[in-house]
Amino acid sequence: MQPLTADLVVRGAYLITLDAERRVYRNGHLAVRGDTIVSVGPDSAWNGIARRTIAASGKVLLPGLVNAHNHLNQVVFRGRQDDLPSGAGMAAFAHEQITLWQQAGAETSAAIVRLHLLDLVKGGTTAVHDQHFTNLPRENIEGVLAALDESGMRALVSRCLVSEPALVPPAAIETVDTVLAETARLRQRWNSSRITVTASPINPSWVATAEELVALREGVRALGAPFDIDLAGELWRETLAARGFAGGAVEYCARLGILDDQTLGGKAFALLPYEYQIWADLGVKACMVPFGRLYREGGPALHHFLARGVLPGVGTDAPNSHPTTSLWDAMRLCLVGTATRKQLEQLAGDPFDAAVTPTTETVLEMATLGGARALFLDPRVDGLAVGRAADFILVDTDRPAFAPRFDDCRLVTMLLWCTEAAMVDTVVVAGRVLVEGGRSTVWDEERVIAEAETAAQQLFRAAGLDRTLPPRRPGQRYRRWTYL
Ligand SMILES: [Zn+2]
Repeated sequence: MQPLTADLVVRGAYLITLDAERRVYRNGHLAVRGDTIVSVGPDSAWNGIARRTIAASGKVLLPGLVNAHNHLNQVVFRGRQDDLPSGAGMAAFAHEQITLWQQAGAETSAAIVRLHLLDLVKGGTTAVHDQHFTNLPRENIEGVLAALDESGMRALVSRCLVSEPALVPPAAIETVDTVLAETARLRQRWNSSRITVTASPINPSWVATAEELVALREGVRALGAPFDIDLAGELWRETLAARGFAGGAVEYCARLGILDDQTLGGKAFALLPYEYQIWADLGVKACMVPFGRLYREGGPALHHFLARGVLPGVGTDAPNSHPTTSLWDAMRLCLVGTATRKQLEQLAGDPFDAAVTPTTETVLEMATLGGARALFLDPRVDGLAVGRAADFILVDTDRPAFAPRFDDCRLVTMLLWCTEAAMVDTVVVAGRVLVEGGRSTVWDEERVIAEAETAAQQLFRAAGLDRTLPPRRPGQRYRRWTYL
């Protein structure tokens, strides 16, 4: 028999496959030809010929992480939440975003989004979601898609409709037809085996009427694209109440007929208790965004989804409110936050689904398998097995943070709790190595950071928003600290 040939083989790794049987090889190999996995198993079983070998002893190999809720260009506002006046509402936020991006074209947009993608991929994220709602000028999103195309990562990108006059300035308001035509044009130009463009209403608070929601859903169906809508309850319930509907957001959308198994329900929070079942029955995909859920509702509702057989993905949301882009942080917060919420539900005398306890394994499955389903990625992105897409990462666990090792009995737990983005050594998407030895193979990292810095400063100046920065320049005092 001819020996198996491969472009790349990784040998000697602690290999978490997340395949159908959830096999873990404590000393494993994984071989890739083109964009596909051609062999997985114990290291001793590899007897093929590979053009390139990565020796991975001391490293954990697992599927790439999927960030299932994000807004890529908002990295320009990273850290801003800390300086916001309390009570600044959604309309102020929307106006600020639109004012800023009005000053940018595709190139500025690409320079800023490259930085975000570089940060994400270096932390082990191989696929990302983007809801893009700053479409003044229209070519703005072209920069996002160009940066994604360059990055080698996978993505679901939503070109959003905004039409609610209470939220956005008149110039930003668009019609359903315009958004669908733009989406079709962008799909023509940018859709690939890695990137899918679709249209989204963000959430109903941003769209003026139910008719528009239904028309957008129908238009997206006609394009053959998945539908992306935030099913986030609390703001929505106020909007819907003002429009004369007393129930929840999920119930509202279900009645409109816009939810199905080709829908990503992003940012799933503040649901009414009966809405989880509606969600599960319709087969809607879910995404947990744990940042912000702690202070809004005591933690993400993960246990309620799991109890109904829904495995959500995990997202960080934009880094303007929660500066980290690390899915490792988001996964940990899913566990901490769900435990907190269960405790609060118990104290409130309403411990429904208290018996469901997510584990380390659950959140690792969410950030990989759950995310791939939520973003409707290539169906071959589904764990590490022969015939599947070669999307995986290596984490360097040869560090004090992962000891004592006890024959690796606690390695999976420590992987979740102790991994920092900087410990990610290698990132591979569709067989292409995007990060090696912790460095990007795609971009000159220093250049990406410098260009994003220049673009961001120019943009803030042009929009007159630099005065919103905290006074931490030489000679200034801020929060009792003096800057020299
Ligand atoms: Zn969001």
